[in-house]
Amino acid sequence: MKERCIYCGSEGIIKKGKRKNKYKIFQQYHCKNCRKIFVLKPLKNKTYNVKIILDSLNFYNQGYSLKISADGKIKELLGYSKDISFYDWVIVCSYYSIFHSTQALLGTKRIKINNRLHYATLIAFAKQFIINKELEEELFLIYEDAEEKARELLEIFEKEKEKRGKFQYHRLSRSNIEPAKKSIENAKMFLDSIEKVLANKKII
Ligand SMILES: [Zn+2]
Repeated sequence: MKERCIYCGSEGIIKKGKRKNKYKIFQQYHCKNCRKIFVLKPLKNKTYNVKIILDSLNFYNQGYSLKISADGKIKELLGYSKDISFYDWVIVCSYYSIFHSTQALLGTKRIKINNRLHYATLIAFAKQFIINKELEEELFLIYEDAEEKARELLEIFEKEKEKRGKFQYHRLSRSNIEPAKKSIENAKMFLDSIEKVLANKKII
């Protein structure tokens, strides 16, 4: 992967002097886009800088991630390089909304699964609501094609879980607008159904 500016994500960085600590000498870089100087530290867990994370979540909440990813002017205004996109975050956040709404559904049965256990959540969802056709029963009150719908929801969970694993921590280029759009669609469908079920159970 090409090295990028740790502040704005631009690939337009050049080597500029060295910095050293007690143990090691680090190559310093200068970003031609935001003009900041930094060192690329080897990270154990890949991570983003806080600004990108917060901005991404913010954009997402406002439904802007997708739009901003393709809008050079806004990116310029926010001090981002024009080749940066947030499609990975659209996919990750879409998945999280599916994941958390499933946890809410499991909560109606007083089933609590640790927030980090994604696979366990998927299995519990399948076991508690799909295999025993309970979700289908609930969905039957709302949708004509309840059986298909229940199956679709499980498929969405599985698919988006896999996608999130694949896309998280990867800056995605413009060509990934389609999977990002699909994730939003899936998440909307999923959330909408779960919301209706919870409303029918008079939980929300
Ligand atoms: Zn920069």
